[in-house]
Amino acid sequence: MLKYDTIKSLDTEYVTPTYNRQPALFVQGSGAILWDNRGNEYLDFLAGIAVNSLGHCHPALVAAITRQAQQLIHTSNILLTAPQAQLAEKLCRLSGMDKVFFTPCGATANETALKIAKKHGNTKRPDGDYEIITLQKSFHGRTIGALSATGQRRYQRPFEPLMPGIRHIEANNLEELKEAFSHKTAAILLEPIMGEGGVLALTTEFLVEAERLCREHDALLMVDEVQSGVGRTGAWFCFQHHGIRPDVMLLAKGLGGGQPIGACLTAGKAASILEAGDHGSTFGGSPISAACALAVIDTIEHTDIMDQVKTTGKLLAEGLKQLKGVVETTGMGLMIGAKLEKPIARDVVREAFDKKLIINATDEHTLRFVPPLIISPEQVQQCLAIVAEVLGVEAPKPVSLGTTSRVTKKPYGDLLSIDDLMDSQIDDVLDLASYLKQRRKLAPSAITPVEGRSVAMVFEKSSLRTRVSFETALYELGAHPIYLTKADIGIGSREAMKDVAQNLSRWCTMVVARLYWQKDLQVLADNCDAPVINALTEWEHPCQALADMLTIKEKFGDEKVKITYVGDANNVSRSLAKLATRMGYPVTICGPENFRLDPLPGLHQTASLEEGLTDAKVVYTDVWVSMGDEHEQEHRMKIFQPFQVNERVMAMADPNAIFLHCLPARRGLEVTDGVMDSAQSAVNDQAENRLHAQKALMQRVLGL
Ligand code: PLP
Repeated sequence: MLKYDTIKSLDTEYVTPTYNRQPALFVQGSGAILWDNRGNEYLDFLAGIAVNSLGHCHPALVAAITRQAQQLIHTSNILLTAPQAQLAEKLCRLSGMDKVFFTPCGATANETALKIAKKHGNTKRPDGDYEIITLQKSFHGRTIGALSATGQRRYQRPFEPLMPGIRHIEANNLEELKEAFSHKTAAILLEPIMGEGGVLALTTEFLVEAERLCREHDALLMVDEVQSGVGRTGAWFCFQHHGIRPDVMLLAKGLGGGQPIGACLTAGKAASILEAGDHGSTFGGSPISAACALAVIDTIEHTDIMDQVKTTGKLLAEGLKQLKGVVETTGMGLMIGAKLEKPIARDVVREAFDKKLIINATDEHTLRFVPPLIISPEQVQQCLAIVAEVLGVEAPKPVSLGTTSRVTKKPYGDLLSIDDLMDSQIDDVLDLASYLKQRRKLAPSAITPVEGRSVAMVFEKSSLRTRVSFETALYELGAHPIYLTKADIGIGSREAMKDVAQNLSRWCTMVVARLYWQKDLQVLADNCDAPVINALTEWEHPCQALADMLTIKEKFGDEKVKITYVGDANNVSRSLAKLATRMGYPVTICGPENFRLDPLPGLHQTASLEEGLTDAKVVYTDVWVSMGDEHEQEHRMKIFQPFQVNERVMAMADPNAIFLHCLPARRGLEVTDGVMDSAQSAVNDQAENRLHAQKALMQRVLGL
C-alpha cells in the first residue's frame, strides 16, 4: 500500500515547493468523492478548482480517454487530427464564436488573447503606445503576460518588471471604465465572475457598457471564462447570461473535465488577427485532451446537468446564506463564494478538511465552492452541515427542491432502450467492440480480472445466444456473471421486482435482464442503483441492434447502406430501426399493413416487397411470432406467409446484399434453408458480434 509519509518525503525533497498541500495522499476518485490511501472518504467541493466538471473518473471521460489512447495519443499540431477539429466546431456552435486556438491550460489561453490584443493594438497604434484594460483583483494565470494582466500585486511583485501597457481598473465601476477607454485602447480583458478575486460577479450593466465602449473605440472585448465556462454557471458560458457578444473568449479548467486543455475562441475580425506562423503550441488540443473535452460537452448536452447546476447551485447559495457568520454569497450556478463576517476563511478550510470536506478560500474572508456539476442535493446538504459544524452554527434546514431536481445517478448507466444511448456512446461502443474483436484474435487470453465485480443476469426466459454471449463477455472482462432463472428470482411468485432490484444492487455492479415486459424492466431499473442492461424484452433488443450495426459496418464500412427488414414490427426491428436511423442509415420495414413501428425520421414502411427490397444491401428477418405475440400465432402464420425470405426475395435486393437474422430461425417459415446457408448469409458473424458489442458496452458501463 502507498504510504503517506513515503510520498510526502519524496514530494518535499524533489518537487518545487510552490504549493501548500493538504496533509493526505489521494489515490482514487468517483463522482464528487475522493479517497485517500487510508480509505478516508472526502466530499470534494473544489473539483480540482472548477476542473472536474463531471466529477472524478466519469465513465464517459474514462471511455473517451481510453478509446483515444488506443488510437492516437499525440501528433504535432502540424498534422491534422479529428478530435481537435470536432471540438472546435462544437465550441463555435455553442458559443456563436468563429475560430478556436487550443492551448494546454488557462494561462496560455490568456497569452493567446494578449497576443491577439497586442497585434490589434499595433495595427491601431503602430508606435506601440496602445493599452489593454483589465480589472483589479482579476486573475488570468501565472505566465508573464497573464500575470501582467492579473490585478493582484501579491502574485506580481516578485516578477517585476512585467509586460507594459496594462491598465487596471476597479470591477463594476462604470465611471472608471468610461474614463479608462480611449483611442489607445486595444482590448479589455474581463472575468465575468472573478474566481480567484473572491468569486465576484461583474454586473450586466458593467459588461454591456464595456461592450459598447469596445465597439466605439475599435477595441476587443475579451472574456476570460477559464473558470466560469462550460456549464458552471448554469449556461454554457457566463457571458450568455448578460446578452453580450465577446470578440475573444478563453476557456480551460472545466472544458477538459480533468484533461489539460485550454482554448482561445475568437469572433468576427478578431478571428483573423492571428495568421500562420504567429502562434503555436506543442500540446494545445492534443487528441486525448480534445477527445475528453468532446465527451464533457456531449455529456452536458445530452443530460440534465445544466438544469441540475441551477437547482443545486441555488440550494448551496441559499443554504450558505442561512448560516450565521456568512454575511453574503456571491457568484452564480455552482461557482459560489461565501463572505465570512470574520477573517477566518483559511481556518475554516483547514477544519473542513479535517472533517473530510474539500473547499478553499480566495482570501481571509471568502470561502469558494466549485463542486463537480453533477453534485447531488444530498451532497450539498452534507457540505452545508460540515461548514455549519466548523463555524459552530446551526445547519440550514433541508430545502425542498420541488419536481425539477433530478440527479443523474448512472452517467453511462441503464440501457433499457436504444434511446438511452448518446450519439457519442453509439460510436464509442461500436469502435471499442471492433477493437476488442481484433484484440481477441491476436491475444485470446488477454483477460484482466476485475476485482469484486459481479454481474447479475436475470433471465425470465431461457436463451442460448444471449446467455452465452453475455456470460463469455463478462468472463473475458474479468467480471463474474451470476445467472438467475425465473425460478431463482421468483418474480411475481415469491418476490416483488422492487425488492429483487434493491437487493441485487447491493451485491452486484451491474444487472443484465431478459424479461418478458419492458414495464417490468423499468421497475427493475428504477429500483436498482446498479446500471441495468436490457437483454431483450417484448419492446426492445438494444444489444442485438448494436451487434447488427457492428456487422453491417464490418461488411460495408461507413457506407450508409439501405437496410430492409422483412417481417414483423417487433422488439428486434424496433431497436434496429431506432439505432440505424440514428446512425444515418435508411431503413425500410417491409411487411403486412397492420404490423408497423411508430414513425421515425429515416424509416420507411411498406407492404411491397419489390419497393422494400430494391437497392437493399442488408436484408434482415426474424421470427413471425415474437415474445408476447403467442396468442396471435395462427393469424400471423397466415398473414406473414408471403414475406418469407427465400431466394426469389433475395434476388430483388442488391446483388451484394447480405442476409441477417437474429436467430433462432424457423427454417422453412420466415427464411428458407437456401438463404440461411447461402454465401450472402452473415448470421453467424452477427451472432458472434453479440459477444463483442456487449463486451464493449459492459466495459463502458463498468467504467473500464
Ligand atoms: N484565468 C482564470 C479566470 C483562472 O481562474 C485561472 C486559474 O485559476 C487561469 C486563468 C489560469 O489557468 P491555468 O492555471 O490553467 O493556467
